[in-house]
Amino acid sequence: MSELAYPYEAPASQALFDRAAAVTPGGVNSPVRAFRAVGGTPRFMVSGTGPYLTDADGREYVDLVCSWGPMILGHAHPAVVAAVQEAVARGTSFGTPAEGEVALAEAMVERVAPLEEVRLVSSGTEATMSAIRLARGFTQRTKVIKFAGCYHGHVDSLLAAAGSGVATFALPDTPGVTGAQASDTIVLPYNDLEAVHAAFAAHPGEIACVITEASPGNMGVVPPLPGFNQGLKDACAANGALFVSDEVMTGFRTSRAGWYGVEGVVPDLMTFGKVMGGGFPAAAFGGRADVMAHLAPAGPVYQAGTLSGNPVATAAGLAQLRLLDDAAYDTVNAVSAQIQGLVTEALGKEGVAHTLQTASNMFSVFFTDGPVRNYEDAKAQESFRFTAFFHSLLSNGVYLPPSSFESWFVSTAHDERAVQRIADALPAAARAAAEATA
Ligand SMILES: *Cc1c(COP(=O)(O)O)cnc(C)c1O
Repeated sequence: MSELAYPYEAPASQALFDRAAAVTPGGVNSPVRAFRAVGGTPRFMVSGTGPYLTDADGREYVDLVCSWGPMILGHAHPAVVAAVQEAVARGTSFGTPAEGEVALAEAMVERVAPLEEVRLVSSGTEATMSAIRLARGFTQRTKVIKFAGCYHGHVDSLLAAAGSGVATFALPDTPGVTGAQASDTIVLPYNDLEAVHAAFAAHPGEIACVITEASPGNMGVVPPLPGFNQGLKDACAANGALFVSDEVMTGFRTSRAGWYGVEGVVPDLMTFGKVMGGGFPAAAFGGRADVMAHLAPAGPVYQAGTLSGNPVATAAGLAQLRLLDDAAYDTVNAVSAQIQGLVTEALGKEGVAHTLQTASNMFSVFFTDGPVRNYEDAKAQESFRFTAFFHSLLSNGVYLPPSSFESWFVSTAHDERAVQRIADALPAAARAAAEATA
């Protein structure tokens, strides 16, 4: 790689990465953290406060990843930290029911009208896996429709043409998923209702559910075309299947009631994670009470978890949700719009072909003339320009997702100083993108 791509060394991070690589495959515990798509040394962070992260070499960055969405109030928000400290002091796990998990479930149900009942789990992957199992148990059918470029965690049957890390590494499939698991999954192009109708027609009485990201953010931000989600809902209703809306990324981020709050399409089941955990491992699935009644111990579909509804995680999630009022979303939306404007202006000035797409305060830049409506469109971008853009910003103290197939995230803590840092760093990054060669 050229000097331009790696404007400076990160010796402390590199030393940690070398240690990590000796004991962990690829040196990371989640693939996209490894910087494989952009090259260079992944930054090991030692602390976060408000909109900033500080790495092991002592450099500070404006964070536009926000832990991939959860840190919507910024890092180490005092109220969340206080709630966690208070919870920890009372004991970290009981293996019994406790009030905190009830309070978090109540807060979620109160915000999201279609969420009549909810079950807490520890990761978004568990949430989608359990929702699929419940949909199959409820409908007594086997097949699942998903969309290319949508990521629903690393659930075996859903790792077909998945986005996120898989898209970044351009792996068409992953070894370890059996043919039987994949054969019950029907992968369709996103934003294509005709393909959905054709699949229902080809498999009468076999499709348990359609699962979709409420508004996809794992192939970059590719919002549903008007009527797409409603069309999915209607197709499911007409064919006796369940409509599962994956709000792990969008839930409590894109509005007080997530993407449901933006679009108003009523799913049968929904999945959550990220923001609802306040930076801890808490996630959930829920929806129609008559469907949720099939879940153990109320019904026959088994599902469980030693740390589900963990008292520390639920305290963090609840503290965060309580602070997320309309004013907080106004703040996040406004700062997001401000940064979007700066990015467009900088890239426009340098004549870089790009498309900035948004879903409420989630946004990302595709280095291609748009629009980007599905995964095929997203893959057509000039990712080498993103690599140059990314490293220029990194060297100037702005931390973007290390892949061009990811949403960017902001928080209520992104104030004028943080925005100014981004504004100052953008012209050089745009120039680097313009000058980059494949
Ligand atoms: C992050 C994500 C998941 C997986 O959640 P994990 O907590 O990483 O298992 C599932 N679905 C969507 C839409 C996501 O963005």
